[in-house]
Amino acid sequence: MTHELPNAFNLRTDQAHSARMYDFYLGGKDNYEADREAAGRVAASYPGIFVCARENRAFMHRATRVLARDHGIRQWLDIGTGIPTKPNLHEVAQSVAPDARIVYADNDPIVLVHAQTLLNSSAEGRTAYIRADVNEPDIILRSPGLIETLDLTKPVALSLNALMHFVTDAQDAHGIVRRLMGALPSGSALALSHCTPDFDPQTWQKVTDIYHRAGTPVRFRDKAAVADFFTGLDLIEPGIVVGHRWRPSAEDGGAAGEDGGAAGEDGGAAG
Ligand code: SAH
Repeated sequence: MTHELPNAFNLRTDQAHSARMYDFYLGGKDNYEADREAAGRVAASYPGIFVCARENRAFMHRATRVLARDHGIRQWLDIGTGIPTKPNLHEVAQSVAPDARIVYADNDPIVLVHAQTLLNSSAEGRTAYIRADVNEPDIILRSPGLIETLDLTKPVALSLNALMHFVTDAQDAHGIVRRLMGALPSGSALALSHCTPDFDPQTWQKVTDIYHRAGTPVRFRDKAAVADFFTGLDLIEPGIVVGHRWRPSAEDGGAAGEDGGAAGEDGGAAG
């Protein structure tokens, strides 16, 4: 007989989970055999995945810093947060603006287990964590954690990094982003990164199949479909580009320039 953890903490370590596979790509320790096996198969088809994950993280740092420094953003809603990885979004934002407020949301219990690390806000700022699914945007928008932390009369950056490729077209990925952005006041921003098959469709088909077989439906989108997430928003320079080309900067620990970069990842920010 196995001892089941209460539902919220049932990690299902026998199945690969996207958060733990990503942790493995980043060289983290919060992953299990099933995750390493699936992630290993992805890496065998696409060895660039390790650089891609690091570059994606570095893009998040830069997008956060640019929005805080150059666009006066002081509030973030970060959905699909992932297992905490230093620096976390609030640490980047609060290094520019100590009073920044961040609401994190993820649907994976492994992130909930580590959520305490996301709550070490600066004294002037504030952070909150919600266990929620991006497929239920209204639950996120109405959650007490969000309402008590963010002032929805002031601009908010919606941060969706390496998340929306886990939402299929049948789940209406674009409608979900429209619903979330529509709830935020004028002056708000969207920062989004997304895997794209554009540079190597055959390899990304293999990666798609590996995720599907591991129980995680994915929809890697071409540039036009990624651009659709930004419809109606003004793009911040340089617009939608491969992640490591979005405002490259030495301070963010990415690997731009080594190894050909992260050709699988598109990122952009718009306000
Ligand atoms: N945003 C982080 C982590 C990306 S990994 C970064 O860019 O570094 C993708 C994360 O999305 C994982 O933590 C996974 O648990 C989460 N995720 C996947 N599907 C989700 C869903 N439907 N709702 C909320 N989170 C989801």
